[in-house]
Amino acid sequence: MRRLAIAMALSTSVGLAQAAGPHVHGQGNLDLAMAGGTLLVELSLPAADVVGFEHAPRDDDQKALVKDALARLGKGTNVLEPAPAAACKVTRESVHSGLSDSETEEHDHGEESPDHDADHDHDHDHDHDHDHDHGGHADFEARYRWHCDHPEKLEWIDVPLLEFLNGVTLKVQLVTDQGARADSLKAPRTRLSMDLR
Ligand SMILES: [Zn+2]
Repeated sequence: MRRLAIAMALSTSVGLAQAAGPHVHGQGNLDLAMAGGTLLVELSLPAADVVGFEHAPRDDDQKALVKDALARLGKGTNVLEPAPAAACKVTRESVHSGLSDSETEEHDHGEESPDHDADHDHDHDHDHDHDHDHGGHADFEARYRWHCDHPEKLEWIDVPLLEFLNGVTLKVQLVTDQGARADSLKAPRTRLSMDLR
């Protein structure tokens, strides 16, 4: 039962990401799918809004910018702060930059889970290397998986990432057992309500 719910959430989340629309500077996409205690998150941001350019880094300064951005986006806790009462922890996080093939970081937090193999295959099915060819544009893309001990208490999720993104609007797609909702967040408004009623 649990696996089915997660598989459904995964496919829903992926579908949303694909339908999220064109690469628009100043606008990122944040897709969240909550099933049981598992929260799956996909984030994509135009590289122009993260590091200020969308080509492979050309000097040490640009390499450092990309490295710093990957480090920041590679930590789920830098991106999201779920309501503490829900007791959520990051169990998996990965980030990829379309700026350079070598810049992929992935961290599995060692949570023994029967879903691990399925997630692994999923990642391979969605290799984003082809993003290099999209008209000279590039994105940062990150995925996070959280586990919440008390998902019923997850009334909101803060998005501290927005405080680091100057004027970027995040288009949010939220899917839970109760339904789906679209939202839009931009600093100083950084709190996403999980209430779908
Ligand atoms: Zn672009």
